[in-house]
Amino acid sequence: MKPNFITEIIDEHNETGRFNSRVHTRFPPEPNGYLHIGHAKAIYLNYSIAQQYNGKFNLRFDDTNPCKEEQEYVDSIIEDVKWLGAKFEDRLFYASDYFEQMYEYAITLIKKGKAYVCDLDAEKLRELRGTLTAPGKNSPYRTRSVEENLDLFTRMRNGEFPDGAKTLRAKIDMAHPNLNLRDPIMYRILHSSHHRTKDKWCIYPTYDWAHGLEDSLEKITHSICTLEFENHRPLYDWFLDELGIFHPQQIEFARLNVTYTVLSKRKLLELVQGKFVDGWDDPRMPTVAGLRRRGYPREALHNFCEEIGAAKFNSTIDVGVLEEAVRGVLNKTAERVMAVLKPLKITITNYPDGKSEELEAVNNPEDPSMGLRKIYFSRELYIEQDDFRENPPKEFFRLSVGKEVRLRYAYFIKCEEVVKDENGNIVELKCSYDPKTRGGNAPDGRKVKATIHWVSAAHCFTAQINLYDRLFNSPDPDKVEPGKDFKSNLNPDSLGIITAAKLEPSLKNANPSQRFQFERLGYFCLDSKSTGPKLIFNRISTLRDSWAKVEQKLKKK
Ligand code: ATP
Ligand code: MG
Repeated sequence: MKPNFITEIIDEHNETGRFNSRVHTRFPPEPNGYLHIGHAKAIYLNYSIAQQYNGKFNLRFDDTNPCKEEQEYVDSIIEDVKWLGAKFEDRLFYASDYFEQMYEYAITLIKKGKAYVCDLDAEKLRELRGTLTAPGKNSPYRTRSVEENLDLFTRMRNGEFPDGAKTLRAKIDMAHPNLNLRDPIMYRILHSSHHRTKDKWCIYPTYDWAHGLEDSLEKITHSICTLEFENHRPLYDWFLDELGIFHPQQIEFARLNVTYTVLSKRKLLELVQGKFVDGWDDPRMPTVAGLRRRGYPREALHNFCEEIGAAKFNSTIDVGVLEEAVRGVLNKTAERVMAVLKPLKITITNYPDGKSEELEAVNNPEDPSMGLRKIYFSRELYIEQDDFRENPPKEFFRLSVGKEVRLRYAYFIKCEEVVKDENGNIVELKCSYDPKTRGGNAPDGRKVKATIHWVSAAHCFTAQINLYDRLFNSPDPDKVEPGKDFKSNLNPDSLGIITAAKLEPSLKNANPSQRFQFERLGYFCLDSKSTGPKLIFNRISTLRDSWAKVEQKLKKK
């Protein structure tokens, strides 16, 4: 990570010796959904900072809320963190493993007279809490004796009371200007089965109580979290100081927001449950699983995180920055291949029937070390329908009757005749080729104004192509007219399916971790869920930012 306000804080700690120059960070997801690009940023930040200071990085599930948590999410999060390359080695932890220790700490605070059992219900609690301008009022149960509190808290744990009947609260100050310090709740009663501890517990710790304890028990030095916890830091500090245990430094940074994207887990879950997308790993989702299936390389996500850095103030990043990071990596690494999405058959009338030949194609002009490959040429070929015009406008330089173009890596061809069906649709072109232009250059120095891609009909295979685009067609999907919600901004054209594209034969052996540039068309990869006999390829991205024009138009309006 380039220097930022977090590394400045760490440098200062290292100078003063606060943590004996130790750096230990963690990523603490709640397993209630899949990770998204915002989490990827938090992971990158925590992991790269640990690495930079020769420190350690933990993955810890903050699984303190039994209601929404599931094993499926735990599994997906582990897979995603590993894929992102953040190495937690043997340091995979669960907050639920600390429940007993947390309970002991609570007993310590009760014995110190710093926590009490309160019988107020949720509504009454809110009422007595006060507001930003008015102080709160003490609970009538605040003066319970230590003995009574110990007895009631034990009975809370033993399941003697129904949900919501009692809470354990810290005894701080009901008039404190920071509302988080007005006797916050530490435990609530929830007779709910937990995905790991099952029915062992019916009291569960709140985030504020649990989080600092988790950090402390793992000897985390720098507890990096998002800005909304800034107001909670005094409480984080209060608990640790009262207990007198190891005290990490909480540091807040701005969460990532991205245009044309929603990053709220609740909304992402709504898209999944409402079947607006094909699951959490739909290639249009901003989830790590979705981006991976889409074909985004991890290096691109790293470059993106590095570029946007860590900030102290909330802002929104243009999704174009992410897409450019993806193109930047793919341009250097993706193998070039030829594929025709909307095929138009052409017959080379002066090429012998039944003959074929091998030509050489460059795998990546950006990287000569990626070498050459063989491609096949024969009498019948496919080109894109768009590369031919029957009545070409002046500035159209591709194929039309009587015009000559270059077939990439092959020959010059000239269109001689258009063949139509009974409805007048163009079904085939009859062309001639110049055998002296093998490899794509004419010995007489004659030039053509266009080079088009093609495949040999006898050698290519048919595949499905999913043309993915942005999931939302508004830069701020949450901005909606009254009565509507973010789903009204879904882009109806975010998935276009081409059922019979023609691909060069080398793609038959593609695996989902390989990325290709289909020449002139964009970047593509094999879909990891492509199983049937007909292969499915995903469009990772177009070659250029096709949305820039749309946005310019929007600005002009
Ligand atoms: P929720 O609290 O609604 O479940 P969350 O996105 O905060 O959602 P967590 O599992 O608590 O989910 O997040 C784990 C970590 O990822 C936290 O430290 C959080 O600060 C960080 N994080 C979450 N969203 C973003 C984001 N958009 N940008 C950067 N960091 C994020
Ligand atoms: Mg959270």
